[in-house]
Amino acid sequence: MQLTKLRGFRDLIGPDVRLMSVIEEQARLIARQHNVAEIRVPVLERLDLYARSTGETSDIVEKQLYVVQRSPDSLGVHDHVLRPEGTPGVVRAYIEAGLDRSDPDQRYFYCGPMFRYERPQKGRYREFYQFGVEFFGRPDAAADAELMVMIDELRHALRLELTFEINSLGDAQCRPIFRQQLLEWGRKHLAELCDDCHQRLERNPLRLLDCKIDVKLTATAPKSGDFLCEPCRAHFDSVRDLLTDAGVPYKLNPRLVRGLDYYSRTAFEVISTRIGAQSAVAAGGRYDGLVETLGGAPVAGTGFAIGIDRLALVLDARKFELRPDATLIALGDSAVPVAMRLSGEMRAAGLRVELLSPERGLKALLRKADKIGARYALIIGEDEIARGTAQLRDLRLSTQREIACADAAQVIVAESRETSDHEPGS
Ligand code: ATP
Ligand code: MG
Repeated sequence: MQLTKLRGFRDLIGPDVRLMSVIEEQARLIARQHNVAEIRVPVLERLDLYARSTGETSDIVEKQLYVVQRSPDSLGVHDHVLRPEGTPGVVRAYIEAGLDRSDPDQRYFYCGPMFRYERPQKGRYREFYQFGVEFFGRPDAAADAELMVMIDELRHALRLELTFEINSLGDAQCRPIFRQQLLEWGRKHLAELCDDCHQRLERNPLRLLDCKIDVKLTATAPKSGDFLCEPCRAHFDSVRDLLTDAGVPYKLNPRLVRGLDYYSRTAFEVISTRIGAQSAVAAGGRYDGLVETLGGAPVAGTGFAIGIDRLALVLDARKFELRPDATLIALGDSAVPVAMRLSGEMRAAGLRVELLSPERGLKALLRKADKIGARYALIIGEDEIARGTAQLRDLRLSTQREIACADAAQVIVAESRETSDHEPGS
């Protein structure tokens, strides 16, 4: 038996994981600035949770769930699944903590792996990572707009080119009319629809619009925008005005529906102009009925999820390389504690510092320092210890001079500020 990873699963090493953590760190920072608190919920949940929220007729529940067999004697019990998305678990936790009744206005972010059994390809994996935000108790348009503003801030921080597509799916008042119109349209075009759409038609006609095959045909289908009731129309207008006001560029996409059952009113997707077929890097929208559907109070909800793996594909790895500001090289056993102490002082001054293995010779260590991208090496031997100094070697200019250990941190901070594009410590 070969011990290899499963298809669609990845070991994230080197630049891949670095880019993902750059995105996560930036997203956490933005969440903090918006006063959004972290929530951590289980990776394993009951199948029922997703059947009742994501939807029994959704691709996710019908085709993509990983069912976990708990032990050999639980054979035949198929009610534990790996989470395919974040929202249902967060909503369940919110209700289970009683917040829907005691303190409904809450804002959370989550970050972690999701699992879907789908055909692996570039940007589509069986284990992938999402960063998501959920606002509860906020029926207002400003909540929807703020979510998109958060993604826009991430776009700016990562210097990405992304576009927003938005639509409104209506509510319990007007959506049934739209649904009925779609159903009638679909029945009329039955012969032209793909096999999957035949299934979708009677069970969930909104999904016709989400079809990746019948794209041309669905261009002629009824549009949700034409059926919005007055309050839904006003809400949508307000979201759009707020986005315009905040300088978030967006396009109207009347065919945008979400693959999940629980959305109402605002729906949006964030598209990268740089990746091919798998171009949606984030998606979200309003789910005002979901808390109640899952057994809670009638509390409004709205949120998004970012596909971290897909965003990482559009980032330029070179822009986010991790480089130490300095390496320390201890020559001889007595230099090790001195170098340890000095490296601690340098880190306290905000520098990124690596103490290299004292087991190897100077030449090899300088090669290593250069390879990991350090600008400076501080070399400490017997003579330097006696004088309380270190040799400061600039690896880029191949120059070397002796400085007092006590000055090392300051000198490196000042010089790298002056001569490099790389902010010390970053
Ligand atoms: P798609 O239409 O590409 O299948 P989706 O509608 O299933 O996307 P959502 O459930 O809305 O996706 O998830 C939000 C984001 O998570 C997506 O925009 C995408 O960036 C990311 N994502 C979804 N599925 C995968 C996957 N299998 N691998 C990597 N990223 C994914
Ligand atoms: Mg999908």
